[in-house]
Amino acid sequence: MTKPLHTEIPLNPHVAGLPPYNAGMNIVAAQNHSGRQDIAALASNENPDGCSPHVTAALASLNPSRYSDPACTALRAALSHKLGVPAESIVAGNGSEEMIAAVCRAVLSPGALVATVCPGFGLHEIEALANGARVEKVAMRADLEFDVPAIITMLERAPAIFFLSSPSNPVGLALDRKSLDRVLAAVAPQTLLVLDEAYFEFTDEDMPDGLATLSTTGLSWVVLRTFSKAYGLAGLRVGYAVMSDVRLARAVTAAKTPFNVNAAAQVAAVAALEDEAWMRSSVAALKHERARVADAVAAMGLSAARSQTNFLFIDVGWESRTALDHFLSNGIIVKPWKEGGYDTFIRVTIGTPLENDRFLDALRAIAAG
Ligand SMILES: *Cc1c(COP(=O)(O)O)cnc(C)c1O
Repeated sequence: MTKPLHTEIPLNPHVAGLPPYNAGMNIVAAQNHSGRQDIAALASNENPDGCSPHVTAALASLNPSRYSDPACTALRAALSHKLGVPAESIVAGNGSEEMIAAVCRAVLSPGALVATVCPGFGLHEIEALANGARVEKVAMRADLEFDVPAIITMLERAPAIFFLSSPSNPVGLALDRKSLDRVLAAVAPQTLLVLDEAYFEFTDEDMPDGLATLSTTGLSWVVLRTFSKAYGLAGLRVGYAVMSDVRLARAVTAAKTPFNVNAAAQVAAVAALEDEAWMRSSVAALKHERARVADAVAAMGLSAARSQTNFLFIDVGWESRTALDHFLSNGIIVKPWKEGGYDTFIRVTIGTPLENDRFLDALRAIAAG
């Protein structure tokens, strides 16, 4: 029998044409590439302290044979209690990443305008494009501050969605109270503001709480938060979206897959909320290290924006992929930035003190020549 002729299935052009997501290199790939075992994984903003022992204990009693709760009832109740918002306005996701996709799917029609900033978080653009939207970006200022007047000009065009990560990934800084208020005053009633607060737990006390601030406005908004960073649960995939109203939350629920948050992730997230003392002490230590590393970077004559996160964004003056190779040969993974205009920047996660010292030693070799 002859094999039937293979026909190329027509693809969804919005999806087929997507730019790739720039994910950090994994540890095994870095071991193979560098020939070293002792990899310092500083590319993905994970918590080097692991997670609360209360989480690991809770995971031991898991029953994997039952489907997870599609409504994430216990987790949403715990979040509702912690945040002081109705559980009906919260949707849990397979990482907050999934919530970016679900919000786009719930809201966007082909041709819609979506706006964000540059440099920014890749998925804000990718998920919008996947739904046929046009994406326009507002550049950050040359000194790596948010360009608030340019953001306001963009908001006056009433995009369907405006995505903003504050604290910014990759830059690290956050909108202060005055700038946030100016931005909010410019959001049109037809615009959904998606404020991505993946690094909220790392911000300094003088920074505004985006969720609390947005709750007092009459705008349509989504606040995204995650268990991946401060709580140390990146591998389990759990985050959440809080929304301005229940109608939006219902639409986002309809746009996700039914059993999107697996049973282990739900148990772990609830346990993590029961031991916030662990998270707070880990974050305090990481912020202390952040200051130490930032000072050392500045002492080399290199600049990094004031970080409100667990990473630094540094102009190393080398093409970022060349810089990555240099770090890899020292057993260190960093994230080379690839957006136009920022291709001499790397983003480096704050690791353990030992990992940070290894990073600084390798950076000194670059700074020296
Ligand atoms: C890490 C990160 C996320 C994704 O987090 P997950 O919950 O792991 O999907 C979302 N937004 C920003 C800005 C991030 O840096």
